[in-house]
Amino acid sequence: QSLRRIGEVDGKIQAFLQVDEDNAKRVARELDEQLASGGEQGLLFGLPAGIKDNMLTEGSLTTCASKFLSNYKAIYDATAVQKLKQAQAVLMGKLNLDEFAMGGSNENSAFHPTYNPWNTEYVPGGSSGGSAAAVAAREVYFSLGSDTGGSIRQPASFCGIVGLKPTYGLVSRFGLVAFASSLDQIGPMTKNVEDAAYVLQAIAGHDPMDSTSANVSIPDYSSALTGDVKGLKIGVPKEYIGEGVAPEVREAVLAALKVLEAQGAVWEEVSLPHTEYAVAAYYLISSSEASSNLARFDGVRYGKRSENAENLLDLYHLSRSEGFGPEVKRRIVIGTYALSSGYYDAYYVKAQKVRTLIKQDFDNVFAKYDVIVGPTVPTPAFKIGSQVDDPLTMYLNDILTVPVNLAGIPAISVPCGLVDGMPVGLQIIGKALDESTVLRVAHAFE
Ligand code: GLN
Repeated sequence: QSLRRIGEVDGKIQAFLQVDEDNAKRVARELDEQLASGGEQGLLFGLPAGIKDNMLTEGSLTTCASKFLSNYKAIYDATAVQKLKQAQAVLMGKLNLDEFAMGGSNENSAFHPTYNPWNTEYVPGGSSGGSAAAVAAREVYFSLGSDTGGSIRQPASFCGIVGLKPTYGLVSRFGLVAFASSLDQIGPMTKNVEDAAYVLQAIAGHDPMDSTSANVSIPDYSSALTGDVKGLKIGVPKEYIGEGVAPEVREAVLAALKVLEAQGAVWEEVSLPHTEYAVAAYYLISSSEASSNLARFDGVRYGKRSENAENLLDLYHLSRSEGFGPEVKRRIVIGTYALSSGYYDAYYVKAQKVRTLIKQDFDNVFAKYDVIVGPTVPTPAFKIGSQVDDPLTMYLNDILTVPVNLAGIPAISVPCGLVDGMPVGLQIIGKALDESTVLRVAHAFE
């Protein structure tokens, strides 16, 4: 069924970079046989799933939507992918993204853009735009995305689906091609909150292969979906509903708060005073880490090797010049600059100090409130081509998502209405490792 739907709509949506038809059919056959013989079923038994193409899948291409890795076949599975296989999901293929997960519109993919299923003149968001569009267009039942600065939640908001960024360290990053290691986190993208709880259940957990993996016991997330939010205390940051947020988006969020209020939750305005510095801190920190992480793409070890090089320096230089797209180069240049001696204290260290202040803002609010609620993005999806030449405007779209990554805490985006026919998302932010409360509130609202 999933293969048929992909055949019908993916020509138009272009969410996939590769469809692994043979593999999907083989696994489906095996699961059928297992069903016939009455074997025990995995948590995600038979569900068609898509994987963002920055997670390694053994034996198949993992390109990160980059020319640098257009022929790169992974030799092992990312832990999250492995866990989906154990839960008996059927992996349908690899989904489009902005190159190396850098971007918010999928227009930075080196291969092709992905189109928003609600209206193909609009972007699906990014960087997990393929993952969001494939779920929204019902090509797969669920997908995995990665979120470094909003890349699960922002496309979920733009495509009218649910996207959860877990607490940093809850889901193993082993086999996720690193963008910014202190921020990256894998999470579920689903049609509804209940599915998000099940997929999270399947992929969360300690992994000795990831030194930043949290060694904590994993609760039963679906049992948190009680529908009960009586007495729950919600903080609504004034910075998240003020200037710069589209009035219709603000209205949708206030209407959502009324729904929660009617169920017995209480909300009050609070303040996260350092929000205005989050985008600057995020782009300095993420680009610094990216410049270091992407140093491995040297033309020697794997991926692209320029044919035109006559010596080793040329080989590095030409392979990287030919292999990376303009946005990736921009980040490498920004990051290398911020880390260079003489500027390190002024940019990188300063950004880390701001990161601490942002985390303290959240700690202060969470001392009195259970969750923080606001919009996921200040606007609905924008038109393809409208921001592509304006990186700064593109970066500023991330103002309400990046603080969560800087603080390492969990947040979900759930659909909360339409503005001019395009979906917008409600963001629910929780305390570290308190995915259960985040899911409970999202479920009660949805
Ligand atoms: N839009 C942000 C960026 O371009 C987020 C990316 C992400 O979360 N992977 O960096």
